[in-house]
Amino acid sequence: MFINNFLDDLKNLLGQNYCFFCGLIEEIVCPTCFKKLLLDSKIRFESNVPVLSLTQNNETIARMIVNHKDFGLSNLKEPFSDFIALGLKYFSKREKVYVVNVPSSYQSIQKRGLDPISIMTEIACKKAGQRFIYKRNLLTSYENRKDQAGLNFDQRNKNMKDVFRSNLVATKPVIIVDDLITTGASLRESIRALRQIENQVRACVVVAAN
Ligand SMILES: [Zn+2]
Repeated sequence: MFINNFLDDLKNLLGQNYCFFCGLIEEIVCPTCFKKLLLDSKIRFESNVPVLSLTQNNETIARMIVNHKDFGLSNLKEPFSDFIALGLKYFSKREKVYVVNVPSSYQSIQKRGLDPISIMTEIACKKAGQRFIYKRNLLTSYENRKDQAGLNFDQRNKNMKDVFRSNLVATKPVIIVDDLITTGASLRESIRALRQIENQVRACVVVAAN
């Protein structure tokens, strides 16, 4: 009897969360640390679209992003979707908008068995409210691109351009979501693909900028 309780207790502790920043039990990012991180939030522009990054150059957040995306640490979708939900609400106070995420490559989804960015984006829309409509297929990755091997410099550049497609004209403005912005290339490519068929891109929201 005692042993069973003891083992249950241990198993429960295994799933216990701590604030990654201050150690407070039961929160991965506690409200106090969340607010502190937000003091660094910034807006930059890519292709004339505002890009809100909720955190900047934060090593703990950077490690969390790797753990979330590459090691599938799924409880991190909670704090990340909180950040994204806040950014979504900033860019639409009452109007209905469509939300897409920067598409993951087919290979990375195969490798991980799931698509953490799309799961995070969908949860963020639910948290932000009914006016945020997640549109999974508004922006997709074009997978029939040639292998880079055997292509010269110009051909490679051309091959890496136009990797995303939008096959659908949305009736509402679109917000693009990603976890991380570094050079901004994938956001610019997302904006280009959406605009190519006259979609109106309102903003981009990312968890972190590095
Ligand atoms: Zn904390």
